[in-house]
Amino acid sequence: MNVGVIGMGAMGTGMARNLHKAGLLQAVWNRTPDKAQAIAGELGVEAAADPAALASACDVIVTCVSRDEDVLAVMDAMASGLASGKTVVDTSTIAVDTAKQAAAKLATSGVEFLDAPVSGGKEGAQNGQLVFMVGGDADVFQRLQPAFDAMGKSATHMGEVGSGQATKAVNQIMVAGINQAVTEALAFGQTSGLDMDKVIEVVSGGAAGNWFLQMRGPTMVNDTFEPGFKLGLHHKDLTICRQMLDNMGVALPVVEMTLKHYERLMEAGYGEEDISALYRDKRELFRTGNKRSL
Ligand code: NAP
Repeated sequence: MNVGVIGMGAMGTGMARNLHKAGLLQAVWNRTPDKAQAIAGELGVEAAADPAALASACDVIVTCVSRDEDVLAVMDAMASGLASGKTVVDTSTIAVDTAKQAAAKLATSGVEFLDAPVSGGKEGAQNGQLVFMVGGDADVFQRLQPAFDAMGKSATHMGEVGSGQATKAVNQIMVAGINQAVTEALAFGQTSGLDMDKVIEVVSGGAAGNWFLQMRGPTMVNDTFEPGFKLGLHHKDLTICRQMLDNMGVALPVVEMTLKHYERLMEAGYGEEDISALYRDKRELFRTGNKRSL
């Protein structure tokens, strides 16, 4: 199996490096060419001239780009290089309907499609510790196991195309709640004058311990919000969740509140920062005496 990766962002770069370690990586492509050339040079693989050239050179194409429209644009740009028997594995976080649309588009030329969004953050991508939630044909999923093994610690087949993205929506609602809880509690701790390194260590060892607290707690209390996972991208995910909830006739408090907070931060120019930049908002509550509405 030879694999190509499209999208050398925070996530795609780690995936490409781990596919290379497993001897599976054939080529990379990125919209901004410098990033693809740097990785291709480092790993000694091809930097494809365009998505179609990458698709033509590879049996399996892993895509990891930002938003729904970007995934569909990349599918179109690959079209002339795709042929029956090839498989596209999209690891971006997008709407269920967009995944189905991509699958239908590719099926017309006999190309298989799996929606395979991930959890585990930039660190998980770098360390080959991602968790994949996968929708699509079960046999195709089985066939691609070596690629999933190279990039992650687990890959679970959730059902038909779109069920990976539906599972990821569950994850993203939970991430919003965890971000709210961790940023709020740590802003409270810092305002109380506690030694925050000790607080993070102690709390991490107890029942409230979690990945986000351990990975982003130390940086947020030191005013560092390097992504990680861009706040603007989580806002995109929660907008997808809100649409799914609308269809159920439900508005969830954590989703609505987090969208509102992210929009405030994006308007202030923090959309490219890590989602832990929500800490800025919480800190402000303590500065202003919580006089503004939630
Ligand atoms: P990122 O660092 O911002 O990288 C985005 C990548 O997408 C870049 O390579 C960018 O190319 C490419 N891109 C964007 N629009 C494009 C288009 N129209 N055509 C071609 N390429 C395009 O984002 P990321 O953090 O890697 O996230 C990628 C996806 O994974 C998103 O759907 C995100 O929600 C999801 N995700 C992220 C994390 C995380 O912790 N970061 C975790 C799980 C899932 P340029 O370099 O040219 O801009």
